[in-house]
Order: sequence, then structure tokens, then C-alpha cells
Amino acid sequence: MAEQFDVVVIGAGPAGYHAAIRAAQLGLKTACIDAALGKDGKPALGGTCLRVGCIPSKALLDSSRQFWNMGHLFDQHGISFEKPAMDVKKMVARKDGIVKQFTGGIAALFKANKVTPYYGHGVLHPGNVVKVRQHDGSEVELHGTNVVIAAGSDSIELPFAKFGEHIIDNVGALDLEQVPKRLGVIGAGVIGLELGSVWKRLGAEVTILEGLPNFLAAADAEVAKVAAREFKKQGLEIKLGCKVTGTEVKKAGSKSFEVSVAYTDDKGAAQEIVVDKLLVAVGRRAATRGLLAEGTGVQLNERGQVVVDEHCHTGVDGVWAVGDCVRGPMLAHKGFEEGIAVAELIAGLPGHVNFDTIPWVIYTEPEIAWVGKTEEQLKADGIPYKAGSFPFAAVGRAVAMAEPVGFVKVLAHAETDTILGMHLVGANVSELVHEGVLAMEFKGSADDLARICHAHPSLSEAVHDAAMAVHKRAIHKAN
Ligand code: FAD
Ligand code: NAD
Repeated sequence: MAEQFDVVVIGAGPAGYHAAIRAAQLGLKTACIDAALGKDGKPALGGTCLRVGCIPSKALLDSSRQFWNMGHLFDQHGISFEKPAMDVKKMVARKDGIVKQFTGGIAALFKANKVTPYYGHGVLHPGNVVKVRQHDGSEVELHGTNVVIAAGSDSIELPFAKFGEHIIDNVGALDLEQVPKRLGVIGAGVIGLELGSVWKRLGAEVTILEGLPNFLAAADAEVAKVAAREFKKQGLEIKLGCKVTGTEVKKAGSKSFEVSVAYTDDKGAAQEIVVDKLLVAVGRRAATRGLLAEGTGVQLNERGQVVVDEHCHTGVDGVWAVGDCVRGPMLAHKGFEEGIAVAELIAGLPGHVNFDTIPWVIYTEPEIAWVGKTEEQLKADGIPYKAGSFPFAAVGRAVAMAEPVGFVKVLAHAETDTILGMHLVGANVSELVHEGVLAMEFKGSADDLARICHAHPSLSEAVHDAAMAVHKRAIHKAN
């Protein structure tokens, strides 16, 4: 006999745990199933984000940034010291502690909100029945008036670069025991840049091979140009237009191994790099294998994503899907919003996600962030716009912090002045981008933003002056 719930959520990552907690807050009897185990072999809720994604990567980015700054920034402040040293095991242990704290935090939130957790692998069967194979081998059957699929995503493996000890994905790259002398990365996307930066800052020689001819094609072209220049200065070697053709793990001495990576460069010439570790970061795919039994009616597209409408409904009565396993950007906060929206829709409330105001952040140095359309997209769509930008080099706070790199750019409709996009590169832009998100969510104009009082001195003054620059009235630069 199946246990009856109002809502059964498959997956306790950002999308799933938001759906479960919000549903329970709304008085719905809710279960949430997750198969993942932590490094200690015990169930760990929170999905990719908390275990092997957002949070652990930011922990290592922060540790490595502190270390890098000791060698590259402190001197400007007049601070000197003996040669800095990094204890990689201690750094990784700190990261593991943060992961444990936050994955345990989800279990505590489930308890506080009366979400019933099930630890094991769930399979959706026809009639909204979910069969869960628990870690002890037993099986339970749950029936949900509503089922929310939040199965997330896995790393894409290249057929000629199988994951193992030397060819790794994000999971391995977050857990290295020592700094590799040479780190190769396939893919100059978000993971390649963030995790490549971590190990570069700690002393690895990092070479990134990117397939596309343009660097960070999704970002504003001027932002990508500044970022590329800064990464080059830091010694990150990024080779564009490369087609990787094969890899080979070879013995290099009695105990060590190396990986040779064959590729053709942007001129079509055959090349090779030899590295100690190879990180493959060429994107992620929906984790929907083994999720659906025959006859559920839930459709997967050619990329394995669950097909949903704009409300995350699958078209099968009471079956919804959210997060990385459906269309749209693979971002934790996109999953958060979809999870909440679906729980509210189930409860009869008007749940909604505005895909036009989802911010993007890349946590490199400088940070990169944006919301809305790029200039390239506006031109392609034939939308008339005005741009205003302002450099951090003219912001007193940024210079006082010795962080003068980068700028903020505001794009507004040429006729209505409505903000259509904001693009930022520089220190702390992961926080500043939310001025753009908020302004766009409230359909604000560049003039609105220009007339809002910003604290002095603060990095946010770059946003203020960029908004003023849209109408050529920035105070702190020539217009
Ligand atoms: P997931 O987090 O993948 O969670 C899905 C969960 O479902 C997993 O725990 C899985 O075990 C479970 N599951 C799957 N199938 C079943 C089943 N059949 N039965 C039971 N359980 C199942 N995004 C950001 O917004 N900001 C960042 O800074 C950021 N950094 C990242 C860094 C890295 C290295 C990586 C890899 C990703 C990063 N992301 C970041 C992306 C972010 O982690 C994902 O977008 C987010 O985790 C997706 O949430 P989700 O709930 O859809 O899926
Ligand atoms: P990505 O899509 O960001 O980047 C993959 C890169 O690999 C692209 O530039 C692509 O052109 C390149 N590529 C693909 N196949 C290739 C090949 N055969 N050879 C060379 N290059 C190739 O994917 P990712 O970096 O793996 O990250 C996966 C997802 O995780 C992203 O969608 C991202 O949204 C999410 N993520 C987000 C953050 C963040 O928000 N800060 C951080 C990490 C990951």
C-alpha cells in the first residue's frame, strides 16, 4: 500500500528542497526523496549545489583568492610577510566542513517544516506512484497527488576522456589533495574558469582549451574582453577554437601519471598538451536516466530534459518538473524560483518565474555578472537602446580597495528608457548586479536608477553613474 502525500518531490537539490519546503509551508503533506551520499557515505541533502557545486566551489575560490592576494595585492597596502604557504588538505577540509554544515541544514529545515525525507533512488511510475529503493535495500511506495521531478544534472563525459583519477569533473577538481603542477581544462565556461582560477591561484600552470572561437560568448562582448585581459595577466592560458580529439593517461615515473591531450588549434594544426590532471567542464546534462518507468506519459526531449510548459507542468496530471532537469539556465537560483512557483501553483496560488530577470554571475577575479539582454542581443532583435557605462577606476571606494578593474554598463530602451540589461565586471559585482535585477523587475528606467541616492563611497556608485551616463549626465567622467 503506497503512502499518501499531497506532494512527492524527487530530488533535494535547490529546486527540489525549495519546492518541498514551500509546499509544506502551505500546509501540504510533503515527502522529498534524494539518493545522494556525502563524502562520509551518509545521506546528504542539497544536491549538486551544496555537495559539489556552488558552495564548495565558492569556499575554494575564497581560500585561493586570499592566498593569491597575499602574493599580488597586499604589497600595495604596505603589508609584507614571509613567503605564504597553502595547506591544501586544510583548505579542502574547511570546504568539507561548510558542505556538511549546509547539507545538514537542509535536513534540519525539512524537520522544522515537517517535510518527510526518504533517502534512496526514486522512480516515477504511472498514476503518480514513486517507488523508492532506499539505501538499506528496502523499497517504499509513495503516492503523490502531485509529483515534482527535481532530478538535477550530471557532468557531461566526453567519449575520449573518461572520468577517473586523472581526468576529472567538478567533483574531483573540488577534492584535489595537492596543487597539480599542470592542470588542463576542456571548456572555458563557468566551471572551467572558476575551478581553473582556484588551482591557478594556488600555483598550477593552467591551460584551458575552448571549442568556440569567441571567449564567453554568452556575456557582453566588452565584459568578456576585460575578463580575458585580466585572466591573461593572471597567467590563465585560454586557447580558443580548439577541437580536442583524444586523451591518453600515461605513466610518468614510478608513481605518477600524466595526461596527454591531443587537439587541433584554431588554425587547424594538430597540437598536444601534457598535464598532471585534466578537468573536463563541457557542460551538464539532465539526470533523468532511470527516473521514469514505462507509461508515465512524461516526455523527455533529445537532450534528456523533462519537457514542461512555462509553468513547469509536464502535461501529465499532477506531474511537474523544475531546476536543471528542465529547459532554461542551469543555475541554483533559477531552480529555487521554479520550486517555489510550482509549490504555490499546486496550492492554488499564482506562482510565476520571470526568466528575463535571472542574474548570471561568474565568481572569477574580476567577477562577471549580468542580467537581461546584451548589446549584441538587442542589435540582433532590432531593439533601439542607449548604453551608459562607468569604470571602477573612477570610483573612489574601488580605488581605495585597490580594485580598479572593470566597469558597469546599463542598457536602456532608446524611447521608453526602460532598463533592458546590466553588465558588470569587477570587484563584488555578484552583489551589485541585483540593482539591475530589482530595477528590471519593477520595470524601472535608467532615469529612475540615476535618481536613486547611492551611498558614498561605495562600489554601487558605478551603477549610479552608469545609469546617469545613459543620458550623458554622469558626474564623474566626461560624457
Ligand atoms: P541538483 O542540485 O543536481 O539536485 C538534484 C538532486 O536530485 C541530487 O541530490 C540527486 O542526488 C537527486 N536525484 C536525482 N535523481 C534522483 C532520483 N531518481 N531519486 C532520488 N534522488 C535523485 N549555480 C549557481 O546558481 N551559482 C553557482 O555559483 C554555481 N556554481 C556551480 C559550481 C559547480 C562546480 C557546479 C557543478 C554547478 C554550479 N552551479 C551553480 C549550478 C547549480 O549547482 C545547479 O544549477 C543546481 O544545483 C541545480 O539544482 P537542481 O535542484 O535542479 O539539481
Ligand atoms: P558551460 O556551458 O558554462 O561551459 C562549457 C564550455 O565548454 C563552453 O564554453 C563550451 O563551448 C565548451 N565546450 C563544450 N564542448 C567542448 C569540447 N568538446 N571541447 C572544448 N570546449 C567545449 O558548462 P560548465 O562550465 O560545465 O558548467 C555547467 C553548468 O553549471 C553551467 O550551465 C552553469 O550554469 C552551471 N554553473 C554555474 C556557475 C555559476 O553560476 N557561477 C558556476 C559553475 C557552474
